[in-house]
Amino acid sequence: MAKSNVSRRDMLKMSLVGAGALALGAVNAEATVSAKDVKFDEEWDVVIIGSGFAGLAAGIKASERGNKVLILEKMGRVGGNSVVNGGIFAVPGSELQKKNGVKDSKEIFIADCVKAGLGLNHVELLEVLADRAVDTFNFTVKHGAKYLDKLILEGGHSVPRTYYTENTSGSGIVQPLVESFKKSDGCELRTRTKFDDFVTDESGRVVGVTVRENYKFDKDLFSDDRENKGGDKKIIKAKKGVILASGGFCSDKFFRKLQDPRAVPEFDTTNHPGATAGALISAFKAGALPVQVGWIQYIPYKCPDEKGNGITSKFAAQASFRYGFSVDPKTGKRYMNELADRKIRADAMFKIIDAKANSYPINLCDSVAAAKLVPSDLENPMNSGVIKKFDTLEELAAFYKIPAGELTKTAERYNGFVASGIDKDFGKPMKLTDGITVSKPPFYAMRGAPKLHHTMGGVKINTKAQVLNIDDEPIAGLYAAGEVTGGTHGASRLGSCAILDCLTFGMIAGENI
Ligand code: ADP
Repeated sequence: MAKSNVSRRDMLKMSLVGAGALALGAVNAEATVSAKDVKFDEEWDVVIIGSGFAGLAAGIKASERGNKVLILEKMGRVGGNSVVNGGIFAVPGSELQKKNGVKDSKEIFIADCVKAGLGLNHVELLEVLADRAVDTFNFTVKHGAKYLDKLILEGGHSVPRTYYTENTSGSGIVQPLVESFKKSDGCELRTRTKFDDFVTDESGRVVGVTVRENYKFDKDLFSDDRENKGGDKKIIKAKKGVILASGGFCSDKFFRKLQDPRAVPEFDTTNHPGATAGALISAFKAGALPVQVGWIQYIPYKCPDEKGNGITSKFAAQASFRYGFSVDPKTGKRYMNELADRKIRADAMFKIIDAKANSYPINLCDSVAAAKLVPSDLENPMNSGVIKKFDTLEELAAFYKIPAGELTKTAERYNGFVASGIDKDFGKPMKLTDGITVSKPPFYAMRGAPKLHHTMGGVKINTKAQVLNIDDEPIAGLYAAGEVTGGTHGASRLGSCAILDCLTFGMIAGENI
């Protein structure tokens, strides 16, 4: 069996030469396990790595075509980031848009994505998303997902096109898909089973995987703890091929910092602990073409006073950023368009945050804005103390040590922009504020911070979800979908496009394999 460990030294080498160069040198059979050297313990038609949106959609589609499908999940629980996702799903051209008279089109959707992605997007993949969006949405409904009957306007989208799952969480899609998949004949979802390496035949086709069962994930080891030998080794044949759906690497404190040095280990992420780079590295080593691995998205509506995803996002995104504003506590002034895309907002926040001095922006709104929320989205974070209530703006300023008087001046100026419909300072689209100002007490506020959220880069796929090699040719037997793929979103993914992307290319991988 060929040596395939990625050691800390390999990783350092990668930081010096860049992942692309490593893969260039690593398109070789030595990085995979040769089928002729091994005896398979099990045989399936299709093996899928990862049980998030992408893996589940792929699994259902592949099983609908009569395949025996095995989904591998290294963690003890199913669903990766998808199950803790906020449950927002962009569907350009949806029935609900038509019902509400919202004019949308493939062109508008792509233009929005390309604007946020700074023109780096692989547009042929976005075209597939636009073409399949309604079909993907219907697929989830058919399998039992339920949605609220209203569309929301996510930052960076030019029209409301985003559904919310009924339980406002990705679990509203993951759970029904898991149930559906488990009912499929001859299919299995196996947790605590970690994929390590690809098995290839003499022609270079991917024909299986090596795994470890009864695997115990250890978050303190880097990049999928390849040096942790825990678990029982098994070699599994995949007669029709393997679908890589292993997600992103925001929780990989080592690999992510190589790609984006701002992502220091102390920096928090919204991701589940298993969002590490091991499977991605195996794909690179096997010859998959890396694209845009250094683009990491930070989500701007998070809070430094709670761990991980937390429970303040709805307040920040839906109340304070939309109907209120965010200020730098050092000046009491606004510093960004609160409804710009995620990247613009996160970059603006980074500029004013002084983590050493524990100084973070303050996101606030008034009682009219707060009343727009589902009550529990305000009450729960208030009970846990991360959102505070104040009778006056002066009290709010005093609590957060904002210069006296500056905050009230900022509010007056902002309220003038609401009245005139034009934000002269940062170009916030004031028509989206529905005329709501920051004036009716009580006022609500929280500290804000961007957190690592999504890794835009990954392996290159074509529109059939086949993984391409450095020569732009499909690697036989290897498909990929979801966050492990790169290019679709360019420099920055628009909010609510992850579900669309992961499910759509998951479906396509499952259809084509
Ligand atoms: P996506 O949204 O792209 O579907 P998710 O993060 O929701 O991604 O799901 C990816 C899943 O893949 C996670 O549950 C993660 O634990 C799992 N995973 C990652 N690496 C491996 C691996 N080496 N073996 C098995 N499962 C893996």
